[in-house]
Parts: sequence; C-alpha cells; structure tokens
Amino acid sequence: MVKKDITTLDILDAFENGKICPLCQLWIKSEERLMPYLLTNEVNMDPDFRAKVIGARGFCNRHIHLLYNTAYTPGSQDGLGYALYMQDVIKLMLDKIQETKSDIERTTSKVSGVLNKKEVMKIFKQTVGKLEANFKGTDSCPACEYLKQLDSLRTGTVVRMLDEDSEFRKIFSNSKGLCIPHFISAIKIVLETKVKNQEIIMSLLFDVEAKNIEKIQILLAKFIKRFDWAYTQKSYGEEIEVNNIVKDFLKGVEGLRM
Ligand SMILES: [Zn+2]
Ligand SMILES: [Zn+2]
Repeated sequence: MVKKDITTLDILDAFENGKICPLCQLWIKSEERLMPYLLTNEVNMDPDFRAKVIGARGFCNRHIHLLYNTAYTPGSQDGLGYALYMQDVIKLMLDKIQETKSDIERTTSKVSGVLNKKEVMKIFKQTVGKLEANFKGTDSCPACEYLKQLDSLRTGTVVRMLDEDSEFRKIFSNSKGLCIPHFISAIKIVLETKVKNQEIIMSLLFDVEAKNIEKIQILLAKFIKRFDWAYTQKSYGEEIEVNNIVKDFLKGVEGLRM
C-alpha cells in the first residue's frame, strides 16, 4: 500500500471520480491554483522567480492571458502583481529596441561607403534575428515549467502506486484511463525507472488504453449513425459527448504541455 499523502489522495480521487484523464484533471486543478498563487506577494517579491519571468520575457500566450484574467477576478489585488511582472519585462524590451535601432542606424550610415547593399542586408537580417531571439528569451514560461514538473512527479507517483498497490491497480483498470500524452509519459517511466512489476503494469496500461480506444470507436460510430436519415430512433447516450471526449483523449486537456 502506498503512503497516503496529498498527492496520492488527489490521484486516487481523480481516478475514482474523474470524467477525463485523471492526470489531465489534476493538471487543470494545479493550473487553477497556480494562477492566483503567482499573484501573491510571496511569489511576486521572490527575486529568483522574477528573474525567471524576465528570462522567459513574461509568460506563454495561454498563461499571460490566464494570469491577466485571474488578476481581475474579485478578491485579487486589481492587477498589481501582474503589473510588477510586466514592468520588468517591458523595461528590458525597450532597452533592446533602442539598442537594435542604434545598430541599424550605424549600419545604414555605412551604406555607399564601406559596405555594399548585399552586405548591409546580411547585417540587417542578423540584427533582426538577434532581436527576435532576445524577445523570445532564454527561459520557457515559468508557469508551464512548474506545471510540467508537477505533472511528471504525479505521473511517477501513479506508476509507483501501480507498482506497489494491487487495490489501485483495480481502480486503474476500471477508470477512464489516460489520455494519449499521459499514456506515453507513463510507459516511458515504467521502462526507464526501477519498477518491481514492470510486466504487470505494462500489460495493465496497454489493456486499459485499448479498452478506452475501443469504447471511443463505438461511441464515434453511434454518434455518426445519428446523422443517418434512415435512422429515426435517435439515441441519447454517452455518444452525444464523444467529440469532446475524443479531443481530450488524443491531445490531453486544453493547455497541456508535455
Ligand atoms: Zn491526460
Ligand atoms: Zn505557460
């Protein structure tokens, strides 16, 4: 039996009551918790975290929008934390823009003198490439990084639970199973780490995945059949939801990064 802690209890709950891939469900839950947390003074004033935000030139598209929306939900500090992050990034952007402008002007002044047109074009291209790379930053989105780290820890815990807990293996086999990205990540862990029951876990993972794919296949066929003009007795089962189910199954929940 695996030791009960917040992670294992969260995982158990997601496997027993989840409507989608349990690891995807926990990803969303973590993301929902992370956004307001990033706006607290504790994180906002942490120089190491601020440096990561600058390194990434802010956040990825999804997380800058989510963070903004969170900053303007009731109960938050009306955008202060958000503005402090952005102030750092914007200052750096302005410095780089000015630096690049001077570089371009310096090159232009050399046209018809030292450099020919072809050489100037080459230098311009390099200058813009440098600016583009600088705007992208050196680090990836700190919110994504945190969520990915948590996700891989959780996937590792699921594998450990499958290895050590026969009760959990039963729960797993009756569950909705994992989406394709989480399935791949779980089998990689099983193959790359030390597990006692490698064969049992591999066969369980593949059986549950195959069972789920077959189920989705049946639901898709049922759903498509509803559009058959000759099929007058319309069904209203789980197939109504299949288009939604299939996207989460194939690509994971919206915003999932592996
Ligand atoms: Zn998933
Ligand atoms: Zn992100």
